[in-house]
Amino acid sequence: MTPHFDGSLLTGGDPGYDAARTVWNAMIDRRPRMIVRAASVADVVTAVRLARESELELGVRCGGHNAAGFAVPADGLMIDLTRMNAVRVDPVGRRATVQGGALLGALDRASQPYGLATTSGNVSHTGVGGLTLGGGMGWLARRYGLACDNVVSYRMVTADGEVVTASRTENPDLFWGLRGGGGNFGVVTDFEFALHHIGTRALVAELDFPAEDAVPVLEGWRDLNADAPREATFTADVRSAPGGAIATVGFVWVGDPARGARLLPGLRALRCPVAERVTTPSYRELQSRDDSTGGHTYRRYSSAHYLREFSTAAIEAFLLRGAADVGTGSFRPDVGLQAYGGAIADVADADTAFSYRGTRFEFGAGSRWTDPAEDDARIAAARAAGAALGPHADGVYVNSLSADEGRRGVRRAYPAAKLARLSDLKSVWDPRNVFHLNHNIPPVGE
Ligand SMILES: Cc1cc2nc3c(=O)[nH]c(=O)nc-3n(C[C@H](O)[C@H](O)[C@H](O)COP(=O)(O)OP(=O)(O)OC[C@H]3O[C@@H](n4cnc5c(N)ncnc54)[C@H](O)[C@@H]3O)c2cc1C
Repeated sequence: MTPHFDGSLLTGGDPGYDAARTVWNAMIDRRPRMIVRAASVADVVTAVRLARESELELGVRCGGHNAAGFAVPADGLMIDLTRMNAVRVDPVGRRATVQGGALLGALDRASQPYGLATTSGNVSHTGVGGLTLGGGMGWLARRYGLACDNVVSYRMVTADGEVVTASRTENPDLFWGLRGGGGNFGVVTDFEFALHHIGTRALVAELDFPAEDAVPVLEGWRDLNADAPREATFTADVRSAPGGAIATVGFVWVGDPARGARLLPGLRALRCPVAERVTTPSYRELQSRDDSTGGHTYRRYSSAHYLREFSTAAIEAFLLRGAADVGTGSFRPDVGLQAYGGAIADVADADTAFSYRGTRFEFGAGSRWTDPAEDDARIAAARAAGAALGPHADGVYVNSLSADEGRRGVRRAYPAAKLARLSDLKSVWDPRNVFHLNHNIPPVGE
């Protein structure tokens, strides 16, 4: 007998089935046997139990941004949390309670009317669930820590269908693991976040330089970053353009734009920029400015690393983007850097599952395209750009792992001692590895 759901149970051919199984990376086209569109914690409990009784592989969907499409199990049971998207803000206590299927935009929409926010990512249609469970990097992280550093408590449905709370005082080991360990331990139905008074204003600076000036410009940008205030997150990218590659350096500032603008003369003095874009969006505009370039419908592949240093040799590898010259090779991926440091590094590495807090920059090489015939060449080019930075890397963000890195990738995301502690924790909370469609931390012995 089909169990009762407050939401709905979809199977192939039902209205909404195809929309629910469609995720961000257009290369993913899998058909779950069942999709539970959960509307309550009770639905999540029932769905976990149903999957186990029916021996169906279980996937958990929030924003659907995971590039490997882990949310969508072929012939399995997908718990679609997207109807559980409510956000409740307590402006006096500065807390937000966010359901496990909410998107980042919902969190900002609910908290910004009070001038409040917490760290979240840079594209508003990313899920709070997957982003926060992996760590959660965003424009506020250098000031207030990662998204996971701002979680006060989690409510979670376990592999046995029990509902538990994790906080500093309740199930503290689980709380440790949920801060960076991904979706390995259960289905989080509610996150309680600390909010901060950030106002509503921001400044974005992007200065373009020709490829021939890029080495000294990136060296100077790196050195300016070392002393930058925590309101600033330095960014850099290199992309192909007609006539040659363009290197763009700049920063995102959250707070009073006039204070942020004081960083501009230092960047302008690096060399003579060929173009400059300085804008002052509202914080909410900032949080959705990459929504279309980060949008759905494209085929995707990316490769990423954490960098503790950014030497001149690393800069040269960054500029080549995996190929032997700096020309306009059409399949060469865009490459980018985003600064870490500040409050991220204030937390001891041992305090959370999230690792490599001493990172100075996150590197990413990303390709997007539409023609399946280009799959192999695009993926090879993005891999080559990532491999070129490999010798300069120290770890990787678990949420930035390539779709196909498997266990080797998980070993890159967590140092060995951390991974051993995570495996012990997995053995306690999910010994049968029910939640394995993720960057999987295997229980001990598996
Ligand atoms: C366009 C784009 C922009 C991005 N920008 C940023 C950024 O600025 N900062 C950053 O840190 N990361 C960023 N990321 C990476 C992002 O954090 C990961 O892709 C993350 O997995 C997305 O989570 P999701 O909920 O959208 O994805 P989903 O595919 O829905 O979920 C990914 C996995 O997370 C787990 N999961 C999700 N929700 C829950 C839950 N409630 N309970 C238990 N498990 C759950 C499941 O294992 C699931 O398979 C970005 C990704 C994209 C595609």
